[in-house]
Amino acid sequence: MACPRKFELARYEAGDPEASESERIREHLEGCQVCRCFVRGLERRRRKFLERHPVDQVVPELEAEVERRERSWLWRLRTWWWTRWRF
Ligand SMILES: [Zn+2]
Repeated sequence: MACPRKFELARYEAGDPEASESERIREHLEGCQVCRCFVRGLERRRRKFLERHPVDQVVPELEAEVERRERSWLWRLRTWWWTRWRF
């Protein structure tokens, strides 16, 4: 099976609710070290981020941001991964 695209892995790691897709990716991760490393890297980055920015501060801020835009996973991901993590 071909590797899922990076954004699919990121969405999986961020806990996207689409269960069927998550299942497929989970199965893939069991057999693919490359994707496993990628997802682990995302987890590490998120943990670091949350250590610096406690959740009770970040979440209301994040929700306000999401409110302002479309309520889509894409915007949420962009906010988390590509904007907020550039220190
Ligand atoms: Zn893979």
